Amino acid sequence: MEALQSLLEMKTWSQKIRAQGLIIGFVPTMGALHEGHLSLVRQAKKNCDRTVVSIFVNPLQFGLEEDLDQYPQNLEHDFELLKKENIDVVFVPKPKEIYPLDFQTAVEVSGLSKQLCGKSRSGHFRGVATVVLKLFNIVNPTKAFFGNKDFQQRVIIDRLVKDLHLDVEVVACPIVREADGLAMSSRNVYLSIEERKSASVLYRALQHGRRLFQSGERRSSKIIAQVREMIDKENPKHIDYAQVCDVETLEEVSEVQTPSVLAVAVHFGQGDKTTRLIDNVVLDSNGE
Ligand code: AMP
Repeated sequence: MEALQSLLEMKTWSQKIRAQGLIIGFVPTMGALHEGHLSLVRQAKKNCDRTVVSIFVNPLQFGLEEDLDQYPQNLEHDFELLKKENIDVVFVPKPKEIYPLDFQTAVEVSGLSKQLCGKSRSGHFRGVATVVLKLFNIVNPTKAFFGNKDFQQRVIIDRLVKDLHLDVEVVACPIVREADGLAMSSRNVYLSIEERKSASVLYRALQHGRRLFQSGERRSSKIIAQVREMIDKENPKHIDYAQVCDVETLEEVSEVQTPSVLAVAVHFGQGDKTTRLIDNVVLDSNGE
């Protein structure tokens, strides 16, 4: 495994590989890697000739009040995990090179970015879309792997690729969960033991919502009311949203059309120090 830091080195490596007609798989991450990330890496390894993983905590996607300074980082451990997966390149660019002082261009996927998480995290998806486009331009991958854990992010990247005619295939990967159903996330380490226990309600509530749908309930309001009730019993700090949305437009639907996504964002914890977790399940005609 090669570790590359400079943009020029990364570009040169990719040019060389592409010139040999080989397929580059790319997994962008912010590090603090866990099995969720590694599932994407394995998918990339299975489907591509060469695999690149980037680790970059992107300042542009964090709001002023958010956790940029505390975001978990453990490069040494990440490198160990990636070595075991036998990837080809770990790309760890410097913020100064990605965002030089005179940087002034950003991309925005305007409509989709305003839905769901976009309502409380203004500017977040602008930061995500901008860094992903930059990374695509630097790494020049054939395929890029994104987790459905960040469902809205994956939909936004799909749109970005279509709208800007990028030659990248976006591959959506399933959510990897802990034994009790909690979706794996780098932010789970922020949770106290009590909060960690409470947080497992998210997947139970989503599964309950999906069962309602499977038994014929189509009114979003009824599904959402029961999902909220279950989550509320665990005394979270705040439910940011519980919504049923069209899987492509991410607009709220009052009747569940298939396929739709039932998505939640919930803050756990006390005082100012809360941890915001997201999760979702797809409601489709197979009841999956
Ligand atoms: P992050 O490091 O949080 O920016 O995530 C990097 C990539 O890993 C994104 O495409 C995420 O959707 C994906 N990812 C994070 N957690 C999980 C998970 N539990 N299951 C599947 N993919 C995940």
